[in-house]
Amino acid sequence: MTKVYQATDIGTTRPTNEDSLACIEPDTYIVADGMGGHAAGEVASRILVNTARAVLAPDTVYSEQILRGVVLQANRAMLEAIQQHPEYTGMGTTATLFHRERGQGYWAHVGDSRLYLLHQDCLQQITRDHSLVSDLVDNGSITPAEARVHPRRNVLTRAVGVEADLTVDTGSFPLQSGDMVLLCSDGLTTVLSDTAIRQILQNDPAEDKADALVKNALAAQSHDNITAIVVMIYDV
Ligand code: CA
Repeated sequence: MTKVYQATDIGTTRPTNEDSLACIEPDTYIVADGMGGHAAGEVASRILVNTARAVLAPDTVYSEQILRGVVLQANRAMLEAIQQHPEYTGMGTTATLFHRERGQGYWAHVGDSRLYLLHQDCLQQITRDHSLVSDLVDNGSITPAEARVHPRRNVLTRAVGVEADLTVDTGSFPLQSGDMVLLCSDGLTTVLSDTAIRQILQNDPAEDKADALVKNALAAQSHDNITAIVVMIYDV
């Protein structure tokens, strides 16, 4: 059995919430963080989610390839939308998709939204951010804490809706009873450390975890839109 809790908030500064989220039966979850002026960010993240709803039918046999295909199809749909509506030029979105199939999790990912696995006391970031600051952390130039306050922390190295040739990261990992999976946008991870996220996931009541993550991000002055989906794995 799986239980899911979700929360999203516009944040303290932005005029619109450009994050989109979706829970699609069976056991498929998506966070997309749109970008682009004139509300185009909202359009981009919604195209991603709507494409997933159209492609993923209840009898879908899930695999990493299926999830990658959703992102690639959304990429084509976004590029077509930009051609038809020049005012959408510059829009794009992150895409983090997770599907649970018994004791296995499948994911596909582009951008700097994140997928985390909490197994026992260990919170592991499953996806790798496609961002400038992530590259700087990886090559040892800055620390994760410095990345969270870096002036160019919003610069993505990969996004959906930018180029026809898009590389989508995918993977799978084992799930055990008691595990939790978190999908979230960078409005959360820019202001909350992995330690803070782990403590909220471990200590707050199940039904409050997603709300608590978003409320803590707001209290930490997240200026960005904030989105969290918490998937609790009760048995596999
Ligand atoms: Ca964001």
